[in-house]
Amino acid sequence: MSFKFFGGVHPNDMKAPANKAAVTVMTPPQQVVIPMSLHIGAPCTPTVAVGDEVKLGQKIGDAASPVSAPIHASVSGKVIAIEPRLHSNGTMVNSVVIENDGLYTPCETMVPATEEQLNDPDAIAKLIREAGIVGMGGATFPTAFKITSGKGKIDTVIINGAECEPYITSDHRTMLEHPEAVLGGISLIMKACGVPKATFAIEENKADAIALLREKNKPDSGIEILQLPCRYPQGAEKQLIQTVTGREVPPGGLPAAVGCAVFNTFTAYSVYRAAYEGRPAIERVVTVTGSAIAEPKNLLVPVGTPVSYVIEQAGGFKKPAKKVLMGGPMMGNALYDLSVSVTKGTNALTCFAEDEDKTVEDPQCIRCGKCATVCPMRLEPALLYVFERKTDYEGMDKFHIMDCIECGACTYNCPARLHLTHSCRTGKAKMQAKMAADKARAEAEKAKAEAAKEEKK
Ligand code: SF4
Ligand code: SF4
Repeated sequence: MSFKFFGGVHPNDMKAPANKAAVTVMTPPQQVVIPMSLHIGAPCTPTVAVGDEVKLGQKIGDAASPVSAPIHASVSGKVIAIEPRLHSNGTMVNSVVIENDGLYTPCETMVPATEEQLNDPDAIAKLIREAGIVGMGGATFPTAFKITSGKGKIDTVIINGAECEPYITSDHRTMLEHPEAVLGGISLIMKACGVPKATFAIEENKADAIALLREKNKPDSGIEILQLPCRYPQGAEKQLIQTVTGREVPPGGLPAAVGCAVFNTFTAYSVYRAAYEGRPAIERVVTVTGSAIAEPKNLLVPVGTPVSYVIEQAGGFKKPAKKVLMGGPMMGNALYDLSVSVTKGTNALTCFAEDEDKTVEDPQCIRCGKCATVCPMRLEPALLYVFERKTDYEGMDKFHIMDCIECGACTYNCPARLHLTHSCRTGKAKMQAKMAADKARAEAEKAKAEAAKEEKK
């Protein structure tokens, strides 16, 4: 039984055969630049030094914070620099630069888990943590923390196979090429969560994958392969939960608040590889696509590979690229420097040629209300746009800008082509900066008051 979520759109999925080619294992680059922030949460501290020789899969960064995940070398070679480098999020992030020796010497730690570990939920969560696995659909929330923090609260595991964003086919290819491994990863996640059943929710435009997974799925696995109608942004966590269970995650709440935990398809595959091959999260499938790309491809890319190098492996640009997005056309982040690295959450690089540019100079709202009708979070994007432009914190707060999931449905549906999603993203950043500043001010005032009290004694 499927439940509908509010809003959403039906864009052309652009998943023509040419855009969903089988995965090619890419020749790794001469150098990888691995940011110490590949997850939500505190960045890692490098555990290697300049001049060190490192092996493939060796841990090169870690952090004590639970909302962090270790980082591993995606090639073997020599650490030639540890320095701030530009991250795809637009900030400078401390990064480990490794000169690839071309040998791919595996680290001794890359060993399969024992039977005993595979039967112990805590040991599975621990190995997921040690493998540095995060939400590989783009959220990059550490998977082990999702499991451990949800213990006792979760009764439903959902595997996100919606892949509803146009152009992207990396999860689809993973389902087709590694069905047993994906199902095996789901079983391990279920065991770690202590939940006997899981729903693998896949949109109907992946009928071949649905059929194959149903064929491979063992009757006693506890995994239901659920076919969903296509609708964007069905793959967003809150919307998927509502579609599958009918439960609505409260504003500002986490899926565990309604007893759910959602894991991405490639995350499940990565869990399988960590458990049965000892392979940490050092690579991922990236769909390289869009009208500017000469040979659209799905490539298995080592984490830390420069975006410019990945684009070259897909034949480069056949026309000048007007816009390069890390991610898909709806939610992707525009890149202004292609030297940035592929991260654990990079599922696509979508590159549009100039002739597809539909930007309008100084767009004007015609008050048609079409943006609000498709917002899955029931927000009023046109109003938020106005508040953001005026940096009106009160207005942004009152109209719940922090609930925006940056899905892009409003921008897609706006006939006047207002940059609504970008505006929400900017507004959220402004709100976060203000909240941090307010907190720092309050703490400073408290410390001052306490110091004054001490002085009086
Ligand atoms: S980007 Fe934000 S405001 Fe726009 S439709 Fe999505 S959730 Fe709503
Ligand atoms: S869809 Fe665009 S033009 Fe229509 S109300 Fe929203 S912002 Fe204004």
